[in-house]
Amino acid sequence: MDTKIPAKPSPVVKPLERTEAHEANPWAQAMEQLDRAGKAMKLEPFALERLRHCKRILTVSVPVKMDDGTVKVFEGYRIQHNMDRGPAKGGIRYHPSVSLDEVKALSFWMTMKCAVVNLPYGGAKGGVICDPKKMSRGELERMTRRYTAEISIIIGPDKDIPAPDVNTNAEVMAWVMDTYSMTIGYSCPGVVTGKPIEIGGSLGRNEATGRGVFYVTRELAAREGFDLRKSTVCVQGFGNVGSNAANIFAEHGTKVVGISDVGGGLYDPKGLDLHDIMEYRKTHDTIMDYPKAEKVSIDKFIELPCDILIPAAMEGTINKGNADKIKAKYIVEGANGPTTNEADAILHKKGVVLVPDILANAGGVTVSYFEWVQDMQAYFWSEKDINARLQDIIVGAFTEVYDLSKKEKVDMRMGAFMVGLRRLGKAASIRGMYP
Ligand code: NAD
Repeated sequence: MDTKIPAKPSPVVKPLERTEAHEANPWAQAMEQLDRAGKAMKLEPFALERLRHCKRILTVSVPVKMDDGTVKVFEGYRIQHNMDRGPAKGGIRYHPSVSLDEVKALSFWMTMKCAVVNLPYGGAKGGVICDPKKMSRGELERMTRRYTAEISIIIGPDKDIPAPDVNTNAEVMAWVMDTYSMTIGYSCPGVVTGKPIEIGGSLGRNEATGRGVFYVTRELAAREGFDLRKSTVCVQGFGNVGSNAANIFAEHGTKVVGISDVGGGLYDPKGLDLHDIMEYRKTHDTIMDYPKAEKVSIDKFIELPCDILIPAAMEGTINKGNADKIKAKYIVEGANGPTTNEADAILHKKGVVLVPDILANAGGVTVSYFEWVQDMQAYFWSEKDINARLQDIIVGAFTEVYDLSKKEKVDMRMGAFMVGLRRLGKAASIRGMYP
């Protein structure tokens, strides 16, 4: 049986303009990556065309009674980019810079990521335009509950499973789970991952993204022939991904010489005392004024001397304005979309080896998948099991991407796109087109 949809020339694929706005727009960046990889691997035009569109975009208004008695209405989104390979999966972000194009791009990268590591999921993402740093816990809870109620028409354990992202955490996921469960009338732990252990969360989920970043870097070191115990690392962003990655590198003997957060960076060529900094952060909003290390501005942080740079903050922090100043030989993308395509080209020319986001930070969604499987079975695994299975999946995906990149003589971003698009192309072709 021929399952291929007759290939018609794609009407949409046209070169995107190279402007400042283009570099700053994650969706434009993501579509450029897709077009380039789709063309290089001769992806079926109908599959490529479908991936250039999000399956479902929901915009919601989220009215919240603020502590001072006024009502503020926030704008939120939930986007399901693709569900050809299973239910949609992706985090929820709270940030003032959330935009429709950003959430679209993040949902697309989730589709790619789940395909690269071969999880039975499509991609989704959610976001609310808000500044959680200026909101009380009560306001955040009310906003989360109303946002969940608004998007409950499209989420669910078989449909779309949210998770934490920037400025959301296990507590926020507990509110999502509780609100959704109240709406349907019974407890539904499988609707969300990254929950507290007590209500169906998974051991190892909190550290999973950082742990995955470490596993891919260890594989990279083995393949490229450098010793992690003799290497130095700088981590941009000290939230869930950055702080866990930094700690796991330090535990394995890699010297963490730089870390930063939204306030600024810290540097110590002898190695930072992460334990002390974590203690300091418990009582301070930012690590910026930590007294026992050299202070570095956000802009200069990226230029610090180190072997490995791990961007683990926001999109576009490595761009054409600073890529040339980077001294690290290896970049492992803990964040989603931290390197613009313009910067990618500069880094490639400089000989920097980069492990792309859709592979490097896939540890989070992998353990989210384990959490969902455990919830569905109501049977929970040990942390040892979880970390071993995570390592298997991440090392397997790294090997596939690295080997393909070498064989095709392309960089690892292109290699990862090729691995993911091959799976997505097959799924689209086998399912065919409805009606
Ligand atoms: P988080 O909210 O826990 O932490 C974000 C950190 O980045 C904070 O320390 C913040 O101060 C810092 N930051 C923000 N802007 C910065 C800047 N310009 N320079 C330096 N630091 C800055 O968020 P997170 O969950 O750690 O997510 C970070 C990135 O990793 C995002 O791109 C997210 O999409 C991605 N990611 C997260 C997960 C996950 O499991 N949480 C999984 C995969 C990918």
